[in-house]
Amino acid sequence: MERSRVNLLIPGPTPLPPEVREAMSTAMVDHRGAEFGRILRDVLAGVAQIFQTTSPVLMFAASGTGGLEAAVVNVLSPGDRVLALSCGMFGDRFASVARAFGAEVIVEEAPWGCGIDPQQVTEALRRHARVRAVLVTHNETSTGVTNDLRGIAEAVRGSGALLLVDAVSSLGAIDLRADAWGLDVVVTGSQKALMGPPGGVFISVSPNAWEASKVARMPRHYFSFAMARDQLASEAAYTPFTPAIPVISALAVSIPMILREGLPARFAHHRRLAEMTRTGVQALGLELFAQARWASETVTAVRVPAGIDGKELRARLREQFGVAVAGGQGALDGRIFRIGHMGYVQEAQIVEALAALERVLAELGHRRSPVSSR
Ligand code: PLP
Repeated sequence: MERSRVNLLIPGPTPLPPEVREAMSTAMVDHRGAEFGRILRDVLAGVAQIFQTTSPVLMFAASGTGGLEAAVVNVLSPGDRVLALSCGMFGDRFASVARAFGAEVIVEEAPWGCGIDPQQVTEALRRHARVRAVLVTHNETSTGVTNDLRGIAEAVRGSGALLLVDAVSSLGAIDLRADAWGLDVVVTGSQKALMGPPGGVFISVSPNAWEASKVARMPRHYFSFAMARDQLASEAAYTPFTPAIPVISALAVSIPMILREGLPARFAHHRRLAEMTRTGVQALGLELFAQARWASETVTAVRVPAGIDGKELRARLREQFGVAVAGGQGALDGRIFRIGHMGYVQEAQIVEALAALERVLAELGHRRSPVSSR
């Protein structure tokens, strides 16, 4: 029989509240009309509150990677030296984007499973002169690691470098203060903790980044910050190109939900889900991939136990129990699986997933280790 419901616990896209799903399916509107202009501006003002910034927030129709590209091409010139902090696939991706547009990229790495130590950033900036920008992934989705963004921002402050932040899998779930921490460009996507469908990116741009954009020479057209800002301020043409109307309609419902609940409550919700998940998988005798100090509150990476096929484990969870979790990416393919717990994910979904995991592990012959089953 066809399963009617999937317990979607991948690290994005995430489950949507029913009222958000309904909003997505309403009739199309005139995207140059006054009504749509009001909706878009309200959404952007709400997202700015989540970025904790008073700077204007821009939106583009794109996936998260499009947002990373927008961040890079608007504030940098070919040949600019960039320090890319990487502890996983998405940190590597940010570095690749900068490289593709001609930046001279120096990569500063941490072992996968760990975050980047702010002291390491201080030292790297001391070692390398003329760094124009530092790139960092706030929450490294591929390993379930959250970087100490505040500490890294402190390390960058005073160096003269801009700080560009990938907050795709953190914004709305983990505290991020764009203004107070001095973050210059912050990118997030619509499809994770903001409880919307994929298709939109939001970008906050600091006054320093706006200054940098005036002299930056990397090629750009669709992703021009200046064009997006100017159009938003115009009377009847709010976006330079056709906006992702269903994404905006969805966020017009989800963003007020988040703000009504309040950011501290949203952060506490994610902390609770993460703690439940970590405690639960360890009680089943499994080992967490990320070191405890860096463990993410939006995604938990779990080592596949020796002798068990990770693909088979995930397939059984999906087929027998309707539980969808993600596999490992790149070098971690088959070695870990990842449980996403962000946005609208509820505690009951985690409980159900843990129960299913216990059954599947038993079927696959996994014996709990003596330490964790005590
Ligand atoms: N950065 C991070 C940290 C992510 O988790 C993701 C998506 O999972 C992305 C960037 C963007 O990826 P995509 O372009 O597939 O939306």
